Formats: sequence, structure tokens, C-alpha cells
Amino acid sequence: MTFSSSGRRAAVIGSGFGGLAAAIRLQAAGVPTTIFEKRERIGGRAYQFVERGYVFDMGPSLITAPQVINSVFQAAGKELSDYLDLVPLDPFYRVHFHDGTSLEYVGDPERMKSQMEAFNPRDAERLDDFLAAIKPIYQAVITDRLGSRPFDTIKSMIGFAPKVLALRAYEPVTRFVRRYFEDWRHRFLYSFHPLFLGGNPFEAPSIYLMIPYLEREGGVWFTRGGMYSVVEAMGRLFQELGGEIRTESEVERVTERGGRVTGVETLGEFHPADIVVSNADVAHTYSHLLADSDRRRWTDRRLRGVEQSMSCFLLYLGVRRRYPQLAHHTLILTERYEGLVKDIFRRKVLTEDFSMYLHAPTRTDESMAPPGCESLYVLVPVPNLASGTDWSEAGPVLKERVLDVLEEWGLEDLRSSLDVLRMFTPEDFHHELNATLGNAFGVEPRLTQTAWFRPHNRSEELQGLYLVGAGTHPGAGVPGVILSAEATYGCIAADHGLDPQPDIDEPGRVAIADIAAS
Ligand SMILES: Cc1cc2nc3c(=O)[nH]c(=O)nc-3n(C[C@H](O)[C@H](O)[C@H](O)COP(=O)(O)OP(=O)(O)OC[C@H]3O[C@@H](n4cnc5c(N)ncnc54)[C@H](O)[C@@H]3O)c2cc1C
Repeated sequence: MTFSSSGRRAAVIGSGFGGLAAAIRLQAAGVPTTIFEKRERIGGRAYQFVERGYVFDMGPSLITAPQVINSVFQAAGKELSDYLDLVPLDPFYRVHFHDGTSLEYVGDPERMKSQMEAFNPRDAERLDDFLAAIKPIYQAVITDRLGSRPFDTIKSMIGFAPKVLALRAYEPVTRFVRRYFEDWRHRFLYSFHPLFLGGNPFEAPSIYLMIPYLEREGGVWFTRGGMYSVVEAMGRLFQELGGEIRTESEVERVTERGGRVTGVETLGEFHPADIVVSNADVAHTYSHLLADSDRRRWTDRRLRGVEQSMSCFLLYLGVRRRYPQLAHHTLILTERYEGLVKDIFRRKVLTEDFSMYLHAPTRTDESMAPPGCESLYVLVPVPNLASGTDWSEAGPVLKERVLDVLEEWGLEDLRSSLDVLRMFTPEDFHHELNATLGNAFGVEPRLTQTAWFRPHNRSEELQGLYLVGAGTHPGAGVPGVILSAEATYGCIAADHGLDPQPDIDEPGRVAIADIAAS
């Protein structure tokens, strides 16, 4: 094992997008870095499997804010376009409501207005006002970098609070949206985005309204070969920089001496490191990888009080035919919105009715399935394992229900055309990814778990221990976890005297000085 000339060496636990981005930044800064990944391949929730010629991205499917992904490549002196071609999607997604009406969600406000006029002309008139109201939220998170700075001091929070108050970004998303739109379809369309990050639109603060603006500004994209191409490109970049990836290497312990990390242990093997970045689930990191005696703040009691995000039930379907009525991204909604969300998040019960998101990547990239076939994935939001659901029983039942509903909805002969059928349940999130309570999106994004109130990028428990990914600031989503790597790198750079690195489109502005001063 080599050490850098300054003697520093880093270990990154987990290879989700956040772990990969942090590892690239560290390696690019001259710190020899090893990624330790539990599973056979890198990617975390963005895993991919191929069966009988059908290619399935298992998690993220929408690429938004490509400039955020590019910032990691720029940190290493490269460009994303050196590795990948991105394809813009139009529409971003198609939304089918329970009453048979539908909307094509696009970035162009004029095209949105012309569709909205059919349901409520006043709403169409107010779209510009709504976009003007959420623009400063987007600017605060992206342009002013609230999303890529660590919130690990009270001082950082004091700077954040006035902005949040001025923008009313503390209000629940649905309340903010109700002020602009009357029609229930429009209220859904502009408020549901927190669900993409495991948040409850009726409780998540309006800071998450930066997402519709981010989609409008930056578009929704796909890349040939699927989301996993982005994972592979980041893995390749990391290895080109000299980084080491060890798969099937579950970390069992973060070791320490005198309150400072000394390395990690995998299956009893010790790997020295003086910087350890955990991309694993936050509660798993603190409760399983640190000794009880190393924890003052993140005790088991405190971790039990952290609200974990909802989970997902996923079906991967390889189908010997095409369904042209599906867009690349399609939402098929049941009648209930607030009640269903409450059942998932608060009552934590699995209900008879459900809404679905469908991914049909062959719409854009023929190579994702054999000729004339579809590789579909169906995502149903469900409660996390706090529901007590036995998924060995509930999974097969829900699978049949989903297939029934899809056939009734219009996917004819779906069952009889299946070549591939795989399920992924909250139990799989728990066992495969060490996700506490089988959460799909880490710590739930709610006001009391946002910014300073979220687990910090710089751990309070051990010197040299940092967190990155969906459980820390700013939160889930591919752009979110890549921004978290920027925030985490800023902490490490301040603590270990590393060089500044490019952040989004602005070289040399990772918030190092701010941290050092705080
Ligand atoms: C079904 C689904 C659909 C989504 N769709 C989108 C989308 O369209 N667009 C979008 O932007 N976002 C989407 N998201 C959210 C996004 O995918 C995630 O927020 C993001 O990928 C999580 O990245 P992460 O850095 O937190 O790491 P994760 O992906 O959570 O990876 C963590 C890694 O750590 C590993 N690990 C855990 N414990 C250990 C250990 N002890 N030792 C070694 N390794 C360990 C795990 O195996 C895993 O590989 C989706 C999420 C899901 C679940």
C-alpha cells in the first residue's frame, strides 16, 4: 500500500455516486485513495444488471444537472464529454392521472402553459410567477452553493436561515405550490418532486422546489448504455488517476487511535488510512462501523430518532414486445395523493392502491433490449421496513397487483410477453446496501433533517472521518450526492491542507476558505 509524499492516504467506504465523486476529488488532489465496496460491482443504488440481452438500470434513471456531474470530471482536469454523450429528453416525463387525463412535462414554459390552459387558464397565467418564485431557491442552492457547502457549524446555519426565511423555503412544498395553482393536476405536477428524493411533499421544505427549476434550466438527460455508463465513466476516471477499487470488500470497522482514524478493516484485514470517507448509510456507519466507545453524539438512541426515507418496490421486466404509449419516463397515478403519501410516510402501511413510475429506456436507446423488445422498470413508492411488512409474502402479491394494473392500463399481454422478471424490495435495500430500515433515499429530507440538522459531512466522532452521499448534506439524488462530495472535499481540504478544486463551472471555488474561517 503506497502513501503520498505527505503521508496521507484515504479510504472510501462504498461506491455510490457520492463515494465515487469524493474518491475522484481526493485522488485528483494527490491523496492515494482506495474504494472499498461491499458488492460485486460499483455503483450502489445505480447498479445495473443484464439478463438475456435486457439491460436494467436498477435505481436512478433521470440525469439532471449534468454540470454538477461535470464538476467532478473538471476537478480531475477532464470533461464529462470526454467520456460520455448525453441525450436530451423531450418530454422530460409524461404523467397519466387516474381520470384518464395526462400532461407532458417539458422545460419550455410556453408549452407547459398551452397544456395547462385546458385544465385551468388561471394556472397557466401564473406559471411564470411560480417559476420566478422558485428561481431564487435554485440560485441559493446551486449558484450561491448552499448545496455544496458543509453545514457543520452553528455559524453556517446562521448564514443560511435568513435566506430560507426570505424565500419562504421553510414552508412545505405543497403549501407553496397551492398559492399558485388551483387545478389538482398542476398542484401535483409542481409539488411531487421531493418524492424523487424520498421526501414527503406535504412536509418537505420548499427548498426542494429547486428541483423543477433545475430540470427547467438544465434539462433531463439520458446517456447511451443507461445511467450505469456514468458510474463506469467515473470508475474509469478514478482508476486513470491511479485510484484503487476493491469490490466484494465490506468494511467491518473504522479503526482509531486517540480519537483519530487509523484505517478500515475488511474481513479482519487492516487497511491504513488517515482520511476515511463513508458513503455507506449513515446509521449503518455509526452503529456498525464505529465502536460504541467512539460515539458521543451518534448513539444508538439518537440514530433511532433519525427518520429514514421511504422505500421502493421495484420490478424489472424484460418484455418481448414494445409499448409505444410509454414515454421514456412515465408516471401512472392513482387517485389519492395526500392520503397515499401519508400512508407511506406516516402511517407506514402498504395500501391496496399505488402510483407508479415506469422507465422505458429503449425509447431513447435501442441497445437497452433485444430488437423489438422493452427493458422496463416499474417503481412503486412504499413504506420503509418500520412498517413491519414481511416482503417475502407481500412482494409476490404486490408484483401480481402491479402487473394487473399495468395490463388494465393498456400494456396488453404483459404477463405472457415476459422474458425477464425480477423484484427488488425494501428487504433488498436493507441486505444488499446496508440501508437502515430498507430506506431507498437515505435520511428523509424534512425541515428538521436539513442543512445543519442533517448528519454532518465532517463527522463529530473521530478526526479524519467524513460522510458523503444521500444521508448527509445536501441529500439524495445524483446531483445531491455529487454536491455532497464537494462539501465533504471542502472539509477534508480545510483539515488536511489540500488544494482548492473546481466546483460547478467555477474553477477553484470549492468552499475551503469558508470552512477554515468557521
Ligand atoms: C429506485 C431509485 C430510483 C432513483 N432515481 C433517481 C433518478 O432518476 N435521478 C436521481 O438523480 N436520483 C435518483 N435516485 C436517487 C439516487 O440514486 C441516490 O440518491 C444516489 O444514487 C445515492 O448515492 P450515494 O452516494 O448515497 O450512495 P449509494 O448508492 O447509496 O451507495 C452506497 C454504497 O455503499 C456500499 N456499502 C454499504 N455499506 C458498506 C460497507 N460496510 N462496506 C463497503 N461498502 C458498503 C453499498 O453497497 C453501496 O454500493 C433514485 C434512487 C432509487 C433507489
